[in-house]
Amino acid sequence: MKIIMLGAPGAGKGTQAKMIADKYHIPHISTGDIFRANLKAGTELGMKAKEYMDQGLLVPDALTCDLVMDRIGQDDCKDGFVLDGFPRTIPQAEALDAALSNINQKMDYAIDVDVPDENIVNRMSGRRACLNCGATYHIVSIPTKVEGVCDRCGNPVVLRDDDQPETVQKRLAVYHEQTQPLIDYYKGQGILNTVSGTQPMEDVFQAIVEILGA
Ligand code: ADP
Ligand code: ADP
Ligand code: ZN
Repeated sequence: MKIIMLGAPGAGKGTQAKMIADKYHIPHISTGDIFRANLKAGTELGMKAKEYMDQGLLVPDALTCDLVMDRIGQDDCKDGFVLDGFPRTIPQAEALDAALSNINQKMDYAIDVDVPDENIVNRMSGRRACLNCGATYHIVSIPTKVEGVCDRCGNPVVLRDDDQPETVQKRLAVYHEQTQPLIDYYKGQGILNTVSGTQPMEDVFQAIVEILGA
């Protein structure tokens, strides 16, 4: 099962992708997590990506596509994977389709988690992320058990640099301009499914399971 998560920044793609990965036993591939892990490890890719991320801009396709193609070519992806945050541009989607068609495969589902812009700033300002294990929380709707501490690994949870309100506005504009066109792209392929992302996270997940099948 090969799945793409679509949706604005903060729509809940990552939250749902982790739940899908657990239930269906497929890897969760988040390009944002990969860039942040590279930054933490001090790689050149991480430093380059940060310049764009901190401005709310997309990292150039040239730095993004090869890394995803390498990842999905690994052994643990042979029965499927869930992509979270990729593709974010039409050229990325075309590169993905081309790579899969070379091995006679294609994506099975694109799931758009739909959340109106007016809810996004609140989602992002309340998001707390564990930069150690990638878990995310929300100070109101999905709090950690102990304030400021990751439930999963015990490290501190923080407001990401790019979740400041000004940067969020920029990311939303970039989303509408560069990523939203993917909704029509996958509609055209007949694999688009939309779920309402403003419900509680368990209900969003239930809607996704109905699409994917139990
Ligand atoms: P969010 O969870 O808010 O959707 P991500 O963690 O997916 O954010 O991404 C954080 C940042 O990393 C993006 O704003 C962008 O700068 C960069 N990024 C992540 N994925 C991609 C991609 N596929 N193409 C270009 N840039 C990306
Ligand atoms: P994305 O990966 O699309 O950027 P996240 O999964 O990181 O989004 O979710 C953004 C923020 O919203 C996080 O703080 C997360 O805990 C919270 N969140 C996710 N799903 C829901 C939901 N259904 N209802 C309320 N808050 C949610
Ligand atoms: Zn953690």
